[in-house]
Amino acid sequence: MSNLNTEKVLSVHHWTDTLFSFTCTRDASFRFLNGQFTMVGLPVNGKPLLRAYSLASANYEENLEFLSIKVQDGPLTSRLQHLKVGDDVLIGRKPTGTLIVDNLLPGKTLWLLSTGTGLAPFMSLIKDPEVYERYERVVLTHTCRFQSELAYQQYITEHLPKDEHLGELVAEKLIYHPTVTREPYRNTGRITDLISSGKLFDDLDLPPLSLENDRLMLCGSPHMLKDTRVLLEQVGLTEGNHSEPGHFVIERAFVG
Ligand SMILES: Cc1cc2nc3c(=O)[nH]c(=O)nc-3n(C[C@H](O)[C@H](O)[C@H](O)COP(=O)(O)OP(=O)(O)OC[C@H]3O[C@@H](n4cnc5c(N)ncnc54)[C@H](O)[C@@H]3O)c2cc1C
Repeated sequence: MSNLNTEKVLSVHHWTDTLFSFTCTRDASFRFLNGQFTMVGLPVNGKPLLRAYSLASANYEENLEFLSIKVQDGPLTSRLQHLKVGDDVLIGRKPTGTLIVDNLLPGKTLWLLSTGTGLAPFMSLIKDPEVYERYERVVLTHTCRFQSELAYQQYITEHLPKDEHLGELVAEKLIYHPTVTREPYRNTGRITDLISSGKLFDDLDLPPLSLENDRLMLCGSPHMLKDTRVLLEQVGLTEGNHSEPGHFVIERAFVG
């Protein structure tokens, strides 16, 4: 049996000239945990060309959603960015990944720290009622170069708090903190600088990170992950995985 499902593209949205998202059909047998990634691709010269992609849709949703970079000469995304409604797309049947709630110890505040397309797995997690049951508050940070790259901003701030099922939990517990690094905006700067200076906590009126209260999931550029990991380890926080839950978990948004 093939390890790939062939799905139909249902919608495509171009956020910027380097960023787009699309939805596609979902095979009835396709199961995943919120926060996981799977292989996504296209047939090229008769063979599947695949790359890892986080699921941006929640596991109870009817369709699948992905948020994608457009790399100009990228083997996959130079093609994938031209997807049209009705096209076929290949989806791996074996989702995996470390950004799952069971890999974290219990705590009070869950921090979801993302840069660029690293937002994708957190779009799935902020739609998961279990995340809100486990934590008193959920803080989502998204850092990009420009405001235009803050994908799903309107969905997070306007649509989700009014959602029929999740709205109340989201309105009560989700704090969204977008920041940009290359132009003026209400929040500016790298997340690592905002953590080490304490500005992030001052701005959100929250205490600094502690072993007792804070749990984190990180998804971003290799550089952001490396620097953030150092900051977390300075506080004494330890990394979790499938065999042993910890204070934080990490997934690369791409391989540098
Ligand atoms: C666990 C995991 C999950 C991933 N999830 C996503 C996702 O949800 N959305 C997504 O767009 N990509 C994601 N990626 C990256 C993805 O697998 C591909 O690298 C990307 O689709 C580009 O493919 P490509 O063949 O066009 O170029 P590649 O040859 O794969 O990449 C070329 C170069 O482009 C840069 N690059 C690649 N991906 C990105 C990115 N996302 N953001 C910024 N620069 C990038 C890197 O410098 C890379 O060396 C993920 C990667 C991993 C390891």
